[in-house]
Order: sequence, then structure tokens, then C-alpha cells
Amino acid sequence: MKKLLKVFLVAASLMLVFFSFNAFGADNEAELKEAVKNIGAENCAGYMKISWEPFPEATAYELQKKSGDGSWGKVRLCEETYFEDGKTKNGTVYSYRVRAVTEEGKSEFGTVSNMYLGSPVIKSVKSTDEGLLVKWKRCTVATGYEVYRKGKGEKEYKLIASVKGNTPSYTDKKVVSGKKYSYKVKQISADYISGYKDKAVSAVFLAPVKKLSVSNSPKGVTLNWKKVKGAKGYSVWRKTGENGKWKKIGTTKASADAVYTDKKTLYGKKNYYKVRAYRSSDVYGAYSKADFVYSVNPNKPMLALTYDDGPYPPATNRILDTLEKNGGRATFFVVGSRIPVYADCIRREAALGCEIANHTYSHPILTGCKPETIKEEIEETDKLIKEYSGTEASLVRAPGGAVSDKVRENVKHPLVNWSVDTLDWDHRTPSKTTAIVKSRAFDGAIILMHDLHVPTATASETIIPWLVSQGYQLVTVSELFEAKGIVAEKENLYTRG
Ligand code: ZN
Repeated sequence: MKKLLKVFLVAASLMLVFFSFNAFGADNEAELKEAVKNIGAENCAGYMKISWEPFPEATAYELQKKSGDGSWGKVRLCEETYFEDGKTKNGTVYSYRVRAVTEEGKSEFGTVSNMYLGSPVIKSVKSTDEGLLVKWKRCTVATGYEVYRKGKGEKEYKLIASVKGNTPSYTDKKVVSGKKYSYKVKQISADYISGYKDKAVSAVFLAPVKKLSVSNSPKGVTLNWKKVKGAKGYSVWRKTGENGKWKKIGTTKASADAVYTDKKTLYGKKNYYKVRAYRSSDVYGAYSKADFVYSVNPNKPMLALTYDDGPYPPATNRILDTLEKNGGRATFFVVGSRIPVYADCIRREAALGCEIANHTYSHPILTGCKPETIKEEIEETDKLIKEYSGTEASLVRAPGGAVSDKVRENVKHPLVNWSVDTLDWDHRTPSKTTAIVKSRAFDGAIILMHDLHVPTATASETIIPWLVSQGYQLVTVSELFEAKGIVAEKENLYTRG
């Protein structure tokens, strides 16, 4: 009997285990054969959104989650057909399963999985030379990014770029100066993609200032540039010497002309300038390319030493040494055919801020030349000056100073002769050259010499320091014109500043 009871008890407990297993199993088994349909998991800013199609007659939904190869987590009851899961980590794959609860029983599960990818955080949007530079925080698992943009007046964000690799920046070059643009960014990792932030980062694009030109003027150093659309004003920056430090020296309103005169420039020095547009204190365009000028004080005496017929290294180099030592510049009216032969002299003249001007290719007396010959003589030399010095020739001196109407008509630059002729080429005596300059120098003078002769170099070694000691600024012909307010015009012949 005892044995029988024991068998019964074992059987009963087995049955209990069986039934309870069955009861437990029934909870996991669908009473309804259909599953929840169209379940999706989408990355949004800060959470994963799981949504599904409404199930007929559903009173609620059961949702479970697992990460990686783990097991399904606790059952969450949802009344809506979506769930926002904020407990997600960047770069982790999550699976979700959902089933419907109805009066009749429960449906089959619908499942979905997706990698959670956080929405990139945009750090800044700024104007550069090329467009608007969008920078964001690097996302650790990203293999790429998508950049979305909405211009002012547009309704929707549009995908404008797919950035490959983990480069957290993009320059949007298709932007218009003065217009506001808003940006959002998504990250991509393998086949997965994040959402973007709800809030965009916006900026107005301001184009860089273009066509800045800096020159001496009777009022100081004058800057001109092309206006930038959308600018409220411009700030002007200066540095003295190539290795100087940039300093903001002033601002001008956009309503005024795109002009600024620096009356506090450092005279006698090589000064660099750059300009940028602004819209507010923290919204500004990229800087212009820098331009420089050797600042000439319009209120102090100045004159232009000019040397013709070179280069000729034994003379030219000594003259350049003396100019360099005394902080002066001169104008070299060079003969075109000599430029490639003495290229080093040409480059050094340019490096010291001297002016390289046109004295024809083969030194013919132009009054006796055909118009085509005159044009060729000038144009060939212009080309060589540009090629070897990097500077544009803007002035011409006709050989022998011989100018006629035919010459004026066929030379495309203003013509320059002189106010003081030293006759150095004729007498070749340093003391005579020096005496002529000392007795006839004046403010605005253009002095004629020739660097084809060594005695002229000897004379220059006396003349240059003497002129500086007398308070003269040694300037180029173009600087002389600028500082004296002369706008040199083609077909005109100039003999002084
Ligand atoms: Zn000559």
C-alpha cells in the first residue's frame, strides 16, 4: 500500500509538473495564428522607435527586447502601436518582438532588429573660402555620414552629401552669400543609419572678400575690394613684415563703398592687409587673400630712381645691395631680351619690392618702328617680366625717351621719361652722376640712370645713402604716382610725380 501511494505521488507530481509546464507553455504559445505585421525599428534622436501595424481587435501589445545574443527581457505592455526605447547604446544591435493581446488570446510575435546609432552633434557651421564648413562630433562606430540641409524659405531637409569614412566634417560649396542654411547629420555604420537631431544648426554664408587691392594714396594706404552680399560691414587687418602679427585696425560699414584708408600705417615698412566681411560679432566670412604695399608717407619728400637697359649683374647687384641696405626701392626699365639671361637679377629686384618696368625687347628707337613692331616689342617684354618676376609690368619707357603719336597709340601702358638726366651712360664718371643728383633732386623727381654701367653702381653707392640722409623716401615710379595722387593713363607721357 505504502508503495502504491508512493507511485501515485510520483505520478501526481509528474502530472503537476506536466500541467504546470503546459500552462507555462500556453502562455508562450499563440492562441491566434497571425503575427503582428510590419514591425520596424528606427533610430531617432536619443532613442530607438519600434512601431508596428495595428492588430485586429488588439487591446494591448506585449514587447520584449534583447541585445546581441542575450535572452529576451521583461515583457512590456504597450497600448499604442509604437514604443520609444531610450535605453540604447551607440553601436549595439537590439532585437524586439511584439505580439498583440486580444479577448481571444495572443498573436504570434513579429520581430525586428537594428543597431542603435546616436544622432551626431553638430559643433559648428562656419564660412570658409569655399563655402559653409559643417563640423560635428566624431561618432565612434561610424563608417560614414549623411549631411542634410534646408535653405531659408525651403520646406524640407534634403540629403546633400554622403561622407565616406569617419571624417566628421563637410564643406557645402553650393551656398549663396547672405543666405541662411540649416544642417542636420546622420551617422552610418555598415548597413545601419542613425536619425538626426530634432534641432538643426544654422548659419549665414558670407563669401570671402575678393579682389582686395592695396596701394599708397595721398591720404595713406588705401584698400579697395569687391562687396560681399549679405555683409553688414568689413574688418580690416594689417601686419608689418612677413612675420609680423595680424592686428585688426578698423571696420567699415557695408553701406559705404568697399574702401578703407589706413592713416596710421607704418611708413617705410612693408605692410600686409586682409579684409573680411561680418554680419555680427560671431558671424563672419573668410579673409581675403593678403595684399601688401611698401607704405609711402605722402607728407614727406620722395623720389624715384630709375635704371634703364639692364639687368647687368656687375652693376645691378651692387645697386640692389645698396638699396637693400638703405631701405629704398627703385624702378628698373629692363630690356626684354636680357631677362632670361639674367633671371636672378630680375627675381631679386622683385623680392626687394623694386618695380620692373618695360624698356622694349631689343631696344629699338620706337619712333622709327612699324606699329606691329612696337606692339611686339612691348608685349614680348611684358610676358617675360610676368614669367620671371611674377609681377605685372605697368609702365613703359621708350628707348632714348623717343615718343611720338605713333608710339603713344601702340604702347598699351603709360609712358615714363624723367625729370633729372644724369647722362651717366655718356660720361661714366661716378662723381659727375652724384653731383647732378645732389644738385637737382626734388620731391617728386624721376631720376634717369643706367644699370648697364659699373660707374653708375659706384655713384649709386653714394647717391642712395645721401638721398636717405636728406629725408627722401626712395620709391618706385608707381608708388610715386600713387602717393602723389596721379592716375597714370595710357598714351600719356610722365616725367615727374
Ligand atoms: Zn635705354
